[in-house]
Amino acid sequence: MKPEQFAQTLLDWYDSHGRHDLPWQQQRTPYTVWLSEIMLQQTQVTTVIPYYLRFIDTFPTISDLALAPLDTVLHLWTGLGYYARARNLHKAAQIIHTEHGGDFPQDIETVMALPGVGRSTAGAILAQSLEQRHPILDGNVKRVLTRLHAIVGPPGQKKVENQLWELAEHYTPHTRLADYTQAIMDLGATLCSRRPDCRRCPFRHDCAALQEGDPTAYPTPKARKELPVRTTQMLLLENPAGYILLQQRPPTGIWGGLWSLPECPADTDINQWCRDQLGLQIETTRRGDNLRHTFSHFHLDIQPVYATLSNGKRNNHTEHLMEAGNTVWYNCAQPDARGLPTPVKRLLKGLTEPQT
Ligand code: SF4
Repeated sequence: MKPEQFAQTLLDWYDSHGRHDLPWQQQRTPYTVWLSEIMLQQTQVTTVIPYYLRFIDTFPTISDLALAPLDTVLHLWTGLGYYARARNLHKAAQIIHTEHGGDFPQDIETVMALPGVGRSTAGAILAQSLEQRHPILDGNVKRVLTRLHAIVGPPGQKKVENQLWELAEHYTPHTRLADYTQAIMDLGATLCSRRPDCRRCPFRHDCAALQEGDPTAYPTPKARKELPVRTTQMLLLENPAGYILLQQRPPTGIWGGLWSLPECPADTDINQWCRDQLGLQIETTRRGDNLRHTFSHFHLDIQPVYATLSNGKRNNHTEHLMEAGNTVWYNCAQPDARGLPTPVKRLLKGLTEPQT
């Protein structure tokens, strides 16, 4: 299909059927589009909207975000998952604040150099906020293009990815870039979704996958790998005042920078571990129901252990940790603003709910 015809058909469809009322569409600045694009990676629009509104309300400018403590950012992100996105957002805001005076850069190379921003996201930001001509290739667009052209092979494969970028470039028009970019994402998110609604699609007469009879065969799925399972014991250590011990995780890696519960391997003797590692004396223990948290590359089976401490006294080792600012006694009845991983938040919430 000729690019002009593709863009015109898509924009006609978008004008009458696309989404025009998303909060970040009301004021399309590089900052609002950037924030929404990062939140929308791996997360549905309906989930993102309240998070986006809270973020913009708390950090109206990039400099506000840059100057906020990481803890506040992670706290606002709690529940969205993939926390590396929040850490990169914060780091990128600091770069923009210090190196660009708080103004979002306007050339694609500089934008792509920001932490957490790839080629497609950079293109989407500049096209939607500044009408610059850049192709995009997010998951939605990959689905649309692989179906339209019946492209065989997983989109993550280099050869397939290069082919998709060429098509994305080929179809990108020279006018109405913001609308075109939103339109192709909308088509993938609404009609050409996992279970496509081809009868209402403006490309139903041109689509190679539909002509073959089974559009859901595209994109070719990745070879499915069984996720490994890791097991851990999470300790809810309650001091005599009723507070729970939290430790801040290292800045990188799983749940980096978030506040979590102390953990030890599944078959560890809790009493001894607490004595050796934390200098804490356990009085009673009780096991809770296991819960599973799934990351992109493994399942984490969590065995919660509730323990009361006999006196809450700490030895020098723990005093040192407290001074280092990476442990805290947390009052579940009056939760403060700190980033907590979702399963930890759930376990802490369980402590304040009446037992049945
Ligand atoms: S016809 Fe169906 S499979 Fe093809 S682009 Fe449209 S919605 Fe997707």
